[in-house]
Amino acid sequence: MSMSLSEKMHMKQTQLKQAGLLRVRQKIDPASVNQIYPSMVLSVDGVEHINFSSNDYLGLSQAPEMLDALCLSAKQYGVGSGSSPLVTGYGHAHQLLEEQLCQVTGHEAGLLFCSGFSANTALMKTLFNTGDTVVADKRVHASIVDGLVDSKATLKRFLHNDLASAERLMSKYAPQALVTESIFSMDGDVAPLADLSRLCRENNTCFIVDDAHGFGIQPALPATMKPVNASIADIQVVTFGKALGCQGAAILGSQLLIDFLVSNAREYIYSTALSPINASLALTAVKLTQTSELRAVKLAENIAYFKQSCLSAKIWLSESMTPIQPLIIGDVDNTLAIAEKLKSLGVWVGAIRPPTVLKGSARLRITITALHTHGDIDTLVNSLTLALG
Ligand SMILES: *Cc1c(COP(=O)(O)O)cnc(C)c1O
Repeated sequence: MSMSLSEKMHMKQTQLKQAGLLRVRQKIDPASVNQIYPSMVLSVDGVEHINFSSNDYLGLSQAPEMLDALCLSAKQYGVGSGSSPLVTGYGHAHQLLEEQLCQVTGHEAGLLFCSGFSANTALMKTLFNTGDTVVADKRVHASIVDGLVDSKATLKRFLHNDLASAERLMSKYAPQALVTESIFSMDGDVAPLADLSRLCRENNTCFIVDDAHGFGIQPALPATMKPVNASIADIQVVTFGKALGCQGAAILGSQLLIDFLVSNAREYIYSTALSPINASLALTAVKLTQTSELRAVKLAENIAYFKQSCLSAKIWLSESMTPIQPLIIGDVDNTLAIAEKLKSLGVWVGAIRPPTVLKGSARLRITITALHTHGDIDTLVNSLTLALG
């Protein structure tokens, strides 16, 4: 490698380290899941922690039904798709999942991707070009922003969850589309979906909703939070790596949109299709969320218990009613120090820093799941009390 490339990388890494923003991976021990099964125990370097940083909100990644589905589908389909969906990678498992997703959401057609990141970039890059204008919430996911930047469309951002701001941009720019998330990944708050949907309809603008954190947990949310479906969004992106506990994603929309993506989306055409196993797992997970609310009820109960416990302990949370419970600290070093202290107390939470969140809003991102026990949550709240000093 050339000296200048090495120097560039070294310099950037040093800068990030000095700013407290260097990202490193944390290896999880293999025994993590199976010591007490199913549970949210996380073993790192032989030390056990309670995991409050997982997006596996319903615990489906460990559900017996999912493990059975894995074995069955492997025997039925093999473990790999073997090629792009346009060659021979699109099969029965994929079709069943697309149909099930359409049945649940009311969309005409669906298209599967190996990740939410690639679904979003594919959608934005393929649908928009130079000359188009797209309006998006200030806090939409990096994959949406990257896709829009790649598309060369003009991107205008409205203030986070601010309908008036969206209305101003709508009348000023007459955009082709408006993009938001249902539940925001770092704040846990919910977009004014009904209002934004109406605004789009009145202006003949396509409404795109990234439902990564909402899909699958609907029964756990307050009744005022309506599920995203075809009556709200023209295009809906759902992902399988969060509440569905496995991997992959789908774009849902009109038959015309899906046909257009099949013939034009480079991420779809030039990439090996989602494994049939993952399609079967996602199908099993969708059916589980449709046929039983037990896990969602437990999740809702745990969220309420956590919020009530924090109130009693005078720990001030945001108003989020979702599994994502941010605790804003502000300063990066302070956030990291508190997260380290929590680890030493056996509690694992994400420390989220800029640029993932705005400067000055570094935070602990606590996620509550259906697998946590009240004892786990008591440990979390007691540890927070100690760590926050
Ligand atoms: C996680 C996430 C994605 C990406 O999905 P992956 O399947 O993890 O690649 C996209 N959008 C939002 C809002 C997310 O939180």
